Amino acid sequence: MAGLKLSGINKVYPNGFHAVKGIDLEIQDKEFLVFVGPSGCGKTTSLRMIAGLEEISDGELYIGDNVVNDVLPKDRNIAMVFQNYALYPHMTVFENMAFGLKLRKMPKAIISEKVDKAAKILGIEDLLKRRPKQLSGGQRQRVALGRAIVREPEVFLMDEPLSNLDAKLRVQMRAELIKLHQDLDTTFIYVTHDQTEAMTMGTRICVMNNGLIQQVDTPRAIYNNPTNMFVASFIGAPQMNFFHGQLVEENGKVLVSYNGYQKELPPHKVEQAKASGFSGKDIVIGCRPEDIEIDGPDGFEATIDVIELLGSETYIYFNAFGQTYIAKEDKQFEKSRGDKVKISFKSNVHAFDKESENAIF
Ligand code: ATP
Repeated sequence: MAGLKLSGINKVYPNGFHAVKGIDLEIQDKEFLVFVGPSGCGKTTSLRMIAGLEEISDGELYIGDNVVNDVLPKDRNIAMVFQNYALYPHMTVFENMAFGLKLRKMPKAIISEKVDKAAKILGIEDLLKRRPKQLSGGQRQRVALGRAIVREPEVFLMDEPLSNLDAKLRVQMRAELIKLHQDLDTTFIYVTHDQTEAMTMGTRICVMNNGLIQQVDTPRAIYNNPTNMFVASFIGAPQMNFFHGQLVEENGKVLVSYNGYQKELPPHKVEQAKASGFSGKDIVIGCRPEDIEIDGPDGFEATIDVIELLGSETYIYFNAFGQTYIAKEDKQFEKSRGDKVKISFKSNVHAFDKESENAIF
């Protein structure tokens, strides 16, 4: 088993487009690492360079201690599962799963054993004689996974493998992939543009934008301490609200101030805020929807624009000083559209430099 290391990896496509701009990343053995970011940020390109399907323009890719830049895909001991799982329509499920092993001239009995074992892990033992067109989308995706599992690779690469499935099946397959990772106990590298998939599946998440890594950490650490406004807005749904305000030090207290409303920082953020050099300056205050309080003891005035009841929770879109923001409440929320409310921040506020957009605290 082996970890991977990307060292100064770049991809410049033949047309001159610089898709991946010098990324450094260590992926531990047996970890479930998720690349997440908006369309075009370079996730798939990075994954394809790891697979060996795309040439690395500059930098080194290590698997274990070896540089593998020039190692052919088939010799990297890596299996890739794509969004478009491309099963052979004229072959049965068994034959589809056995195909790669057959090409390697593996003895029939061993192939059969491996396919049966993978089918059992995936719960598709009863489908082995069917052809792909006799399967549902989720079943086909499982066959595609089975085809990768039988090869017993050291690393599984998955590129948006669930995006062709309907919402309900996606949630189910998400849980199955987490379990599969635990059962197989190997390294998974997974690409998605869906922050929920990243948050729920990854042991660590690598957030990318514009060909650059923005932050790599556990889902919880990224959610609690986003490194900049891009990560803060990309991870978390509904997204973090941003308020243009100031950082203020007054009578020994440190506060964030927004149009006359002031919120004192919690003790664990005070030192960082004082040392930041932003006292008295304009900042962007970040507050997640669940950290917004409606009609607390103080706050600034706002009007409710839209209320969305989602069953267990309610999203409230409100307007203050000409901007729209969003709060999250439980299902008991009783106000109506057009109501005037008082908005305040719970203690968990973030602050960003409005120029660089990097986190201050
Ligand atoms: P998506 O979620 O849309 O697949 P992604 O983050 O996986 O996005 P990539 O497929 O890695 O994005 O593409 C990164 C950038 O490189 C995009 O702007 C894309 O247009 C560009 N690109 C991809 N393939 C080529 C190519 N063969 N030649 C030139 N540019 C390319």
